[in-house]
Amino acid sequence: MILQSNPKAAYLSHRAEIDAAIARVLESGWYILGQEVAAFEREFAEYIGVAHAIGVASGTDALVLSLKACGVGPGDLVFTVAHTAVATVTAIDLCGAAPVFVDIDPQTYNMDPQRLEEAIAGAVTSGLGLARAVIPVHLYGAAAPIDTIAQIARAYGLRLIEDCAQSTGSEFADTKTGAWGDLGAFSFYPTKNLGALGDGGMVTTNDDELAERVRLLREYGWKERYVSALPGTNSRLDEIQAAILRAKLPFLDSANAQRRHIADLYDSLLVTSGLTLPKRSEIAPSVFHQYVVQTEGRDSLREYLKQAGVGALIHYPVPVHRQPAYEAFGRGASLPHTERAAREVLSLPIYPELDEESVRETASQILSWQRSHSS
Ligand SMILES: *Cc1c(COP(=O)(O)O)cnc(C)c1O
Repeated sequence: MILQSNPKAAYLSHRAEIDAAIARVLESGWYILGQEVAAFEREFAEYIGVAHAIGVASGTDALVLSLKACGVGPGDLVFTVAHTAVATVTAIDLCGAAPVFVDIDPQTYNMDPQRLEEAIAGAVTSGLGLARAVIPVHLYGAAAPIDTIAQIARAYGLRLIEDCAQSTGSEFADTKTGAWGDLGAFSFYPTKNLGALGDGGMVTTNDDELAERVRLLREYGWKERYVSALPGTNSRLDEIQAAILRAKLPFLDSANAQRRHIADLYDSLLVTSGLTLPKRSEIAPSVFHQYVVQTEGRDSLREYLKQAGVGALIHYPVPVHRQPAYEAFGRGASLPHTERAAREVLSLPIYPELDEESVRETASQILSWQRSHSS
């Protein structure tokens, strides 16, 4: 069986460092918000190239606390995409705000800035709420056109929060994702490019005031212990996860390079496959959280691969505006590229430790599916 992702392999390849990091925390006697979190926050901020990084409990919480730090709440509108992990929208809804869905660019699967501008103009005249923020998602590891999106956000006075859950380490024009917006939200879910062995997340920002607010919000709004200055929550990154992430951060760039190497190999093996392969961009090189192909025969290809022992997944099968929990927000939205992507995309196996043999086997199964499919 060829797995689609494999967090255990990442653990095993850095086992000594990770085991030592866990033991260090266990023996320290300090398990919540201690030296490991503080050190990881410094190291991560330096890696991303921002002034502040604040460890939180998950990527979802990183988005929620970012929105709350910007003062987003009931009656507010937040522009985002429906072709994303549901968590992006969960976070907006948890703040009491309403998502406004913007269609994607069919080649990159990321937010289309032109559609964003139209959606903002439409919202301003609709009177449905106050346009407050935009959350572009850097999907599959490649940055959205964040320069243009940032310009639009500035022009309309919107806060810009980057969803970097799938893009840790990726850059747009030589600046890391998470350093472009007012805030960046990261996830350390085990299968992400920088994965913990449990849940974790991070908020990045260059703004001292926003950083201070996120810091308060993650622990009951405490400025002073036991006295809440703001209505906050419990969303702390724990010491064990921070220590594990510190052990893994030095290997992130080489792990991402390995993902790129696998993507290059897929590209060369699948040239004749007839599938639409990931679009490459020099200004926004992907860190390949996913290697996503597109075909009208997606369901048949996925079944064929499954029979052949190759794990492939769909990110994502039901766009958020079609999911029962959130469809009320999507009424009237026209998202043809989002809907087509949901029908046709397939994520092939990719993770840094995936061996070349498995990549070749996956590609060869795809080519034999193509032959049987076209005859
Ligand atoms: C994983 C993910 C999240 C949520 O992160 P969690 O740590 O699982 O809460 C948010 N947005 C995107 C795009 C993701 O892929």
